[in-house]
Amino acid sequence: MYNILVVEDEQDIREILKNYLTDQGYQVVLAEDGLEGIAEFHRKSFDLVLLDIMLPKIDGFGVCELIRRESEVPVIMLTALDEESDQIRGFDLKADDYVTKPFSMPVLLRKIAAVLRRTQKEEEHPVIVYRSLVMDPAGHHVYVQGEEADLTQKEFEMLHVLLLNKGLVLTRQKLLNMVWGEDYYGEERIVDTHIKNIRKKLGMNVISTIRGVGYRIDKEN
Ligand code: CA
Repeated sequence: MYNILVVEDEQDIREILKNYLTDQGYQVVLAEDGLEGIAEFHRKSFDLVLLDIMLPKIDGFGVCELIRRESEVPVIMLTALDEESDQIRGFDLKADDYVTKPFSMPVLLRKIAAVLRRTQKEEEHPVIVYRSLVMDPAGHHVYVQGEEADLTQKEFEMLHVLLLNKGLVLTRQKLLNMVWGEDYYGEERIVDTHIKNIRKKLGMNVISTIRGVGYRIDKEN
């Protein structure tokens, strides 16, 4: 679930935003002015900030600047100002998008979804840490106690699949389907060979053999 921080001083707009966003399944935290916005921002982690520009105490530009000093969280600026120079200033402060009031709720919702899609992309293959093992799927590296292990493509994919399904037993057939593809007709024994190689190359045994069933990486306690 995504957490959205809404910083808006007009109560009715704040309430409308909260209702719509909550209906869409977002978790919403409200702030009434720039100072409160910054305070809330520090209180928990957000996936997106909706930020009004004309705000008491610290205006939206100031809030955006402070947020950007410490975070790359997506920011969509909301404002009654539609002057080009204000939009440019917003983008200079690295706001991700800009919506002018009065805005249409469906348009705003689509912009929020688009910004979240764009910014979450890089996290589709997050680095996995398991005991002394670190896997970086995007860069295709596996490290054991800081030393890189030299896995083949298939060995890498198999270890990745097992790590993503920690606590679950994956049968040989399932591993074949997930790593080689549904239309691969080979011997299930190829899975055993790969597991053996992975264990050898890692120098640590993170994969348990579940006799007669398949393989599993246990959950960390
Ligand atoms: Ca305002």
